[in-house]
Amino acid sequence: MIHDVAVAIRRLQRDDKIRTAMTVDCDVHQGNGTAAIFAGTRTESVPLPSVSSSTLPTNSATKAGAKMRGVHAGEVFTISLHQHNNYPAFKPPSSIDVDLPDGVGDDNYLAWLDNALSSGLRQFEPDLLCYVAGADPYREDQLGGLALTIEGLKKRDELVFRVARAREIPIMVTFAGGYARSVEDTVTIHSNTVIAAKEVFTA
Ligand SMILES: [Zn+2]
Repeated sequence: MIHDVAVAIRRLQRDDKIRTAMTVDCDVHQGNGTAAIFAGTRTESVPLPSVSSSTLPTNSATKAGAKMRGVHAGEVFTISLHQHNNYPAFKPPSSIDVDLPDGVGDDNYLAWLDNALSSGLRQFEPDLLCYVAGADPYREDQLGGLALTIEGLKKRDELVFRVARAREIPIMVTFAGGYARSVEDTVTIHSNTVIAAKEVFTA
């Protein structure tokens, strides 16, 4: 296994192109690679601010949980939004993990993403933002249990790109998982990531 994003970050650091980076992993499966590779000194977890518009179920078994390690001791800050009840069973801690319950839809997902990005960027200044744009939070995905629409996934991409643009943080994007029942949907979701980037950065 070769972790493309981790290799890219370490190479850019070695070449003195960047000092710090933030990974934003929006694949439906937790970003266990970045979490393990860039694990820094563990510090006390503090909860993310609650999402005021959230209509997530409140019973503790299904409630979205977010853990944060505080200021990352390393030079890479990792954020992962993922379905809790999915691979990998053991999730090594990211700087911010948003463990989403099954069936989360567009509005709640976007609120948690906005929250995680804001919180991460309040405590860490990345020279580069590495966005892992999984297509598998899609409601029709065969390996995912979230319920985002194609439109919601494009809004997700736009949100990440808008945050990077507003703060003048260079951003790179890689595609990630996508196992929709219809292959055309996966292609559309990935294509929309490119279209969203064009719309945000050329507006
Ligand atoms: Zn995945």
